Amino acid sequence: MLEQKLKEVIRDVPDFPQPGIIFKDITPILKDAHLCTEIVEAFAEQVKDLKIDVVAGIESRGFLFGLMLANKLNIPFVPIRKQGKLPAKTISESYKLEYGQATIEIHDDAFAEGTHVLIHDDLLATGGTVVAASKLIEKLGGKVAGFSFVINLEFLKGEGRLHRFSENVISLVK
Ligand code: AMP
Repeated sequence: MLEQKLKEVIRDVPDFPQPGIIFKDITPILKDAHLCTEIVEAFAEQVKDLKIDVVAGIESRGFLFGLMLANKLNIPFVPIRKQGKLPAKTISESYKLEYGQATIEIHDDAFAEGTHVLIHDDLLATGGTVVAASKLIEKLGGKVAGFSFVINLEFLKGEGRLHRFSENVISLVK
């Protein structure tokens, strides 16, 4: 089963990037082309009944399967990046981290008003990042169609924060 296979391959790196955090390293997945295909097919299957016009992936690990999924669905991919990385005109949204704050941005012409957007990232922790991403989507007049993650760290209860944007929260590993 895919979840079990992923659990075996995802590498736990203790105390990265700071003491007390167990970092879920997905890079071993990327060495296995067949597993990558299985992941994209699993996402595609789980979103097949949703109306999605665009996949928005969050820098940087959200670009990996986000772009593959957009390709599989034959729809556009839009990058959401950290402050100062996107070259054209952007809008931004800041959010709190455990220590300090972060800002993410999207090009202001990323998609047309009324577009249904699937937000994709590698991992859901507290949900702060994808809540900020959802606000960017809504500021541009888009509708959040759902969220997809490779991993949902359920004990951090991030999912509850997403339901005001969309009830559709998909993850392959819990
Ligand atoms: P959050 O905003 O708290 O949901 O954090 C999610 C973002 O931080 C994602 O972009 C993840 O890639 C990254 N992240 C947070 N915690 C971890 C972790 N334990 N392992 C890997 N990435 C993490």
